Amino acid sequence: MMMGLVMTQQWVYPFTEGSETMRELLGGKGAGLAGMTTAGFPVPPGFTITTQACRTYYDNDHIFPKGLWSQTDAALSRVEEITGKHFGDVSGPLLFSVRSGAAVSMPGMMDSILNLGLNDETVEGLAKLTGDERFAWDSYRRFVQMFGEIVFGVPRERLHAIAETVTAQSESGDGLLSTEESRALIQRLKDVVLGHARTAVPDDPREQLRLAIAAVFDSWTNRRAIDYRRLNGIDEDVYTAVNVQAMVFGNSGEDSGTGVAFTRNPSTGAPIMYGEFLSNAQGEDVVAGIRTPEPIASLEHAMPDVYNQLREIADRLENHYCDMQDLEFTVDHGKLWMLQTRRGKRTGRAAIRVAVDMVREGLITRVDAVNRVTASRLEELLHPIVMAGADDEVIATGLPASPGGASGVVVFDADEAEEMAAAGKDVVLVRHETSPDDFHGMVAAVAIVTSRGGVTSHAAVVARGMGKCCVVGCAEIEVDYADKLFRVGNRVVSHGEWVTVDGNTGQVLAGQVDTVEPELDDYYETLMGWADEFRTLQVRANADTPADAAAARRLGAEGIGLCRTEHMFFEGDRIEAMREMIMAPNAIARAEALTKIEPYQTTDFEGIFEAMDGFPVTIRLLDPPLHEFLPRRDETVERITDLKLRLGHAQSLEDINRLLDEINERETILRQIERLSEVNPMLGHRGCRLGIAYPEITEMQVRAIATAAVRCAERGVVVLPEIMIPLVAFATEFQHQEEIVRRVAESVFVQYGMRVDYTVGTMIELPRAALTADAIAETAEFFSFGTNDLTQSTAGLSRDDASRFLPGYVRRGIIEHDPFQSLDQTGVGELVQIATDRGRSVRPDLKIGVCGEHGGDPASIDFFQRVGLNYVSCSTYRVPVARLAAAHAALASRVDP
Ligand code: ADP
Ligand code: MG
Ligand code: MG
Repeated sequence: MMMGLVMTQQWVYPFTEGSETMRELLGGKGAGLAGMTTAGFPVPPGFTITTQACRTYYDNDHIFPKGLWSQTDAALSRVEEITGKHFGDVSGPLLFSVRSGAAVSMPGMMDSILNLGLNDETVEGLAKLTGDERFAWDSYRRFVQMFGEIVFGVPRERLHAIAETVTAQSESGDGLLSTEESRALIQRLKDVVLGHARTAVPDDPREQLRLAIAAVFDSWTNRRAIDYRRLNGIDEDVYTAVNVQAMVFGNSGEDSGTGVAFTRNPSTGAPIMYGEFLSNAQGEDVVAGIRTPEPIASLEHAMPDVYNQLREIADRLENHYCDMQDLEFTVDHGKLWMLQTRRGKRTGRAAIRVAVDMVREGLITRVDAVNRVTASRLEELLHPIVMAGADDEVIATGLPASPGGASGVVVFDADEAEEMAAAGKDVVLVRHETSPDDFHGMVAAVAIVTSRGGVTSHAAVVARGMGKCCVVGCAEIEVDYADKLFRVGNRVVSHGEWVTVDGNTGQVLAGQVDTVEPELDDYYETLMGWADEFRTLQVRANADTPADAAAARRLGAEGIGLCRTEHMFFEGDRIEAMREMIMAPNAIARAEALTKIEPYQTTDFEGIFEAMDGFPVTIRLLDPPLHEFLPRRDETVERITDLKLRLGHAQSLEDINRLLDEINERETILRQIERLSEVNPMLGHRGCRLGIAYPEITEMQVRAIATAAVRCAERGVVVLPEIMIPLVAFATEFQHQEEIVRRVAESVFVQYGMRVDYTVGTMIELPRAALTADAIAETAEFFSFGTNDLTQSTAGLSRDDASRFLPGYVRRGIIEHDPFQSLDQTGVGELVQIATDRGRSVRPDLKIGVCGEHGGDPASIDFFQRVGLNYVSCSTYRVPVARLAAAHAALASRVDP
């Protein structure tokens, strides 16, 4: 719209002139009312004052723009013509509601003022017109209360308290005051308003209207509204419209009432109208919760004609908007009036069912259906959902790291978690943070809670991988391992106490809160099938065990993008062999210790290849520094002290010898721990740097992979191994390892007289690797971006420590979001782009994927699509999210290449 020189700007649109496409100008409510009016639905007549008028009001120092008032007057006269009633008419007045309505739904804005136009005289007219004096005075009382609160800012509770006390003391006893009682109450309310605002509630209806419109404008910049916009990223300059509408009365008798309805069930999506109705009530009564509304079905019995009409309107509105609607309506003496329609909010499950049903009903296309379901909402469908009520005690809130919900008794130690789980107890493992040492406890627990760490901390990543509910970074929790309890302020939760963990919200709740199990239905499968047709990115899973791999396949993964091998060293007595390897004095002894682990690795890989029959499996060679395989230093020191103490009390020679042996052994371990300990393990001796220092490790792993591949291939399994070298910074590091991989694999093939095709590639997780990707691609056959480490090393942020200050960064707006959750597209993303371009410049068919946590994040997936990657790989339980997000990304890039 032109501004400035235009003399006669249209500030006011009667509902008959607007349309639902004019959301920006008329706001959501105004556009909906106009749409319903022009479609011929019963809407009380009225008009909308535009968002542009509101903007100009602010530009003009809170003065109504020129022409606004005369246009309002004209629109008002048209409503008088339509209704045959007059504003301020003492013999039967026209009354208005004044309602705010921005283009986006915005709680925190002004509430509606109803019954505007009443004063000591017109109230008599309303009484005469309706033949119901008590009703008229009740309406007047409501008006004074709302006007005092909304226009003059009298605290709601003050006016409410007075009205409630008077009503409670009323003679009538039916909640409706006698005329005399109302009259006295209104006077008291007016006195309070006068005392508070030093201004009286005006009698002149036009003055009432002017003040009400200004109050809506002003409410755009009240505290609540500003906070809400900030929190939800809504622009300050969209402004609100004002809707002025003739009143209809749901509070005019038993054949009247007010209600809300969804055209379909918003929690399941079932195509059955869903809602509530309250008879003989006006607007706010439903929300206020004074009387409990009836389910909408009750309307079918009480007023079948009205119900059928509503049902028909609901159908027609859906056909019109091609989406589920959320309706507000009022019945006035048996006549139905529509007061609002908008897009209905819904659960993930309902979103899917509604979208699929609407395609089948011919309302929308498959593309629409796929685009309508928010990818992240799919997670709700895969995990149990905690049904917390208002009475449930929230003990603490952390970061929701892995979705789902579970109840169990609190334990603080991994071994104990394992023992108690073996005894059939559900346990929740609570730790400061977790380490690979706690893995078995995490497997045993139903949920994991940590007081430190962010959403890519060890606990979070491992829990998501297992699809286990997890809350991390619960900073309020003080864990006390010694006393086996944790504190939140004064609240103490002891070992063995029941808690419920909600991984969807990050809440830790007291006791056993109910959860419901989700199930994947035909609607889900149908929608995902369409998504798969549209997407061009492949989706793989990060899976480390045959069971994970099988689960990933069931959820639609097209391969494994990251199989971490370190877990394979932790199970059972493998860790002993691993420690033996670490303690070994020379290469020969090391190789010997490793041969003990090799058979286990071989069987693990066979299981994974079988589960992924026909799909690629990317196996990453050992990554973590060796000291992670040794016991913790403090525990070892403690153990030695304890042994020495016992030595002092030992009775027999045999005991003394045994204790001395163990002390000796522990001290050797301690020396090794100290020798391997690093100031900064994240940047230390890990990744390919290990394989270079200890080539026996690489050799053993490759032998296991190649042997498993050959054995599976012999059984007819289609095996596609991709061997991945981690943490490469220099092309020469890669070449060094690649040479070992090829040599060992070839020797296995010779030994078995059979060969299997495989590729050797690298993770790009250091800036230097990204910058020299062309040199690396000379020998590397594929790249996989390890975006967790790449983020860490690009921004210089330790992902384990950054959770202390990153949330503050996001709150202050220094960064928009946590770069470990959603890719930093401008910084880290630039390196992804550079590495992709440079890599493909020497190897045009270079296969490139992502295997960091970002592989399951919809915004990051959209970025990876634009960069032109081949696949994303994410935690098993995020696979459906990634499939749908990849479809969205592909559809978006169709229009905007
Ligand atoms: P909200 O944005 O909070 O939903 P609304 O502007 O929709 O606020 O108004 C709230 C309620 O007030 C409506 O649901 C309806 O019950 C009542 N109301 C609004 N306008 C009218 C009207 N013209 N006649 C009768 N009731 C109305
Ligand atoms: Mg409201
Ligand atoms: Mg409403």
